[in-house]
Amino acid sequence: MSEPETREARDAAEGIITCDACPVLCRIRPGRTGACDRYGNVEGVLTRMDPMVIAAHTEAKQGPMVPFLGAGEWKGALLPASEAFVTGIGAGTTYPDYKPAPFIVSSRHRDVDMVTVVTEGIFSYCGLKLKIDTDRFVGPEQAPVRARGEQVRHVTTAEYGSQMLALGGVRHLTGGSKKEGVVTCETMLALCNKGPVELAVEGGATLTVQAGRPPVINGTTEERMRVGCGSATIGIFAKQWQGHADEVIVVDDHITGVLTEHQAGRFLDMKPAGIRVRGRKSTPGRYFQVANPGLGWGGTDIRDPLAIIEKIDPKTAWPGLRLLMVSTTGEDAAYFVLDEKLRPVPAEMPEAIRRAVERIGENCEPALATVMFMAGAGGSLRAGVTENPIRLTRSIKHALVRVTSGGAPVYIWPGGGITYMVDVSAMPDNAFGHVPTPAIVAPIEFTMRLADYRELGGHMGSVRPVESVIERSHPQLTGWRPENPWPLEPG
Ligand code: SF4
Repeated sequence: MSEPETREARDAAEGIITCDACPVLCRIRPGRTGACDRYGNVEGVLTRMDPMVIAAHTEAKQGPMVPFLGAGEWKGALLPASEAFVTGIGAGTTYPDYKPAPFIVSSRHRDVDMVTVVTEGIFSYCGLKLKIDTDRFVGPEQAPVRARGEQVRHVTTAEYGSQMLALGGVRHLTGGSKKEGVVTCETMLALCNKGPVELAVEGGATLTVQAGRPPVINGTTEERMRVGCGSATIGIFAKQWQGHADEVIVVDDHITGVLTEHQAGRFLDMKPAGIRVRGRKSTPGRYFQVANPGLGWGGTDIRDPLAIIEKIDPKTAWPGLRLLMVSTTGEDAAYFVLDEKLRPVPAEMPEAIRRAVERIGENCEPALATVMFMAGAGGSLRAGVTENPIRLTRSIKHALVRVTSGGAPVYIWPGGGITYMVDVSAMPDNAFGHVPTPAIVAPIEFTMRLADYRELGGHMGSVRPVESVIERSHPQLTGWRPENPWPLEPG
């Protein structure tokens, strides 16, 4: 018997199939999976190995959620079609995208015919924004952030009470060494799937971060997010301190507040205390740069709060003056009384002051790490939805199309393209995958009225009723998150 001449013929003879779901084009032997483990050769058929996830929504929105079921326990046929939302998780991909998306599902809601185009997008242009609720210094702005020694991007501008990291992105996925791309992809994937990741900031801290969990900074778990900057803390609590302290200094890396100079103290007719702090005065009672950033009081490098006092004016201050120094979370606090020589002497904190400090802590929210996934869906992925992609972009901008990711609402950036952001905590667990190009695979769904879909040049020949997906695709069922709006509600 002669050998088959072409590779295709040899593959066919050995039962090898080619996966065409991404540019890697794996050749998969019988019973094996491709490089990403998402597709396998099951009895000669290219098969998406993870079950597709359907979210079940109870009719009464506040009613009990359908519990998560394993694939073996699937009772999909019992789920009313009107309560099923087919997510892109496990849906599969089309590559190249001129083919219709894997599932284009019709259903009827409140007497309106709706359609959801369901796919898994393969994103080379994607990144994460990490919001880490802490005042502690994690590293200078623009400092490289590394995972397993590879740069996975950088520290970006801090927000109110939170340090921010930008991770991933096309340059680190594709523009560096192969290892940098792989580590960047794996780091993003772990965070997107709500796993913990260790990061090291050059010239800064080591961090363990996980979506929805308190961040760990240099081995210390952060508990409280600050109540506000030093100035805001004074604005909130000035009235409660009045009569119990003659001066309150709220130590903060960005804006340190001094009560009797501050507008809030003046409003309360508080007597000037003559205590001048270091740093640059911005406006009365508000000082910048009282110390360097660090892991001490209020995100500064200060361990001894008196170090920020530049001078005490003998013409204004007086012996017996009661001074409270406190951080913006209330975690650090010290109480002093000026002696005859106007030197601050540590003293036992009176009960009223102790309660006032506790009140700051009580008003802090729990510190969390938040992971926002951001990607551009304005490329060829659109061709899986419509033959005329610009009409999809316009329809999204005109709010005719609702975009979700694993059923979670996304924010679409204004301007060109379909650049979206989604909070991974609002998505089902393990919603993301990857391919070794490297790129992240994320679920994405486009929901609209069937009439609008026809209008924008949709693949009408590929529309199938949701019942056929529920009954034949062996999906997994997950409960609907009540905080997410129901995408099938006709607008
Ligand atoms: S990496 Fe995965 S999706 Fe890409 S061709 Fe291989 S098996 Fe298919």
